[in-house]
Amino acid sequence: MSAAVASVGLPRDRHGRPLHDLRISVIETCNYRCPYCMPEGLTPEETALGRARRLDFDEIETAVRAFARLGVSKLRLTGGEPLLRKGLPDLIARLARVPGIDDLALTTNGSLLAGQARALREAGLHRITLSLDALDPAVFKAMSGGRGDLADVLAGLDAAEAAGFRSIKINCVVQRGVNEDQALALVEHFRGTPHVPRFIEYMDVGTCNGWRRENVLPSAELRDLIAARWPLRALTPTYRGEVASRYGYEDGAGEIGFVSSVSEPFCGDCHRARLSADGQLFTCLFATRGQPLRARIAEGEDALAAHLATLWQARGDRYSEERASASPARRKIEMFYIGG
Ligand code: SAM
Ligand code: SF4
Ligand code: SF4
Repeated sequence: MSAAVASVGLPRDRHGRPLHDLRISVIETCNYRCPYCMPEGLTPEETALGRARRLDFDEIETAVRAFARLGVSKLRLTGGEPLLRKGLPDLIARLARVPGIDDLALTTNGSLLAGQARALREAGLHRITLSLDALDPAVFKAMSGGRGDLADVLAGLDAAEAAGFRSIKINCVVQRGVNEDQALALVEHFRGTPHVPRFIEYMDVGTCNGWRRENVLPSAELRDLIAARWPLRALTPTYRGEVASRYGYEDGAGEIGFVSSVSEPFCGDCHRARLSADGQLFTCLFATRGQPLRARIAEGEDALAAHLATLWQARGDRYSEERASASPARRKIEMFYIGG
């Protein structure tokens, strides 16, 4: 451990949780309008954030260097749609070189991936998570708010494979009565491939998606539906705090996962911080407000690391475990603003 790290120490929050993961939203805008995330016409003020207020690559790198000194080793770039951010491979190349960062991933809707997969790989990106809510073109289009084209995303997946990304996570947000049949189609499609579909319970992130508990399909119910056709066995987590519960097919045809933030909250092992495109720190996906970091970033890595350590030590978030008692009127930040 360097002297600089030793002077700041590896902070733990009020529930004893260390800081391991950082998700960075590199852009707050998107070319889709998925109704569960950024519904058409209901997009709040945050999307008006101008390019001038986004952190530039120097600022993002300084932030990552400071976070890495506090124990962050896993980094995920997200958005909005991260592939809309100009020059993203340059940023990836810089972040891949930061000491301590050993896992660099990207979450994308895949619409622009076909043209960028190779450059991302060459820049040093380790892993891609592709969001894909349906394999029926009409359902897919509806779930992207009428803007997405399934063929583009499948071409993006092909390009990612060709560029050398091996096991790609396929994120599917499941909504009861909307795409649960598509979840089964995704299982069938990806069985026998190295790719791993991950079924995410529809979450009450933000306030503009009109979330209702009736639209949540609990993972246990979906798991039973899948297992009735393709028997499953639980796999041991790869690491403590892994977000998805993993299952393998009994016949060895691959793996799937479930992210059950509504039915089985996992706050106790939440080691994740989020940085918005305009430089605010969020210590929970359901936070009411962020902590502005831009001025501290300007002071440099040392000052920023010390400030971040203090903020992390004050963290008490466990929203998903408290969801039942949370006020429905509570203001929450939108998912596209801080990234998934
Ligand atoms: N635009 C990129 C994409 O869609 O992959 C990255 C940002 S998006 C906010 C990150 C992830 O959050 C996506 O996989 C998306 O499906 C998921 N997501 C968005 N809103 C959600 C919600 N209300 N509940 C559960 N997952 C959600
Ligand atoms: Fe855009 Fe991703 Fe949100 Fe869909 S989930 S609106 S693709 S940021
Ligand atoms: Fe972490 Fe907040 Fe989600 Fe709990 S609700 S797992 S603290 S992001």
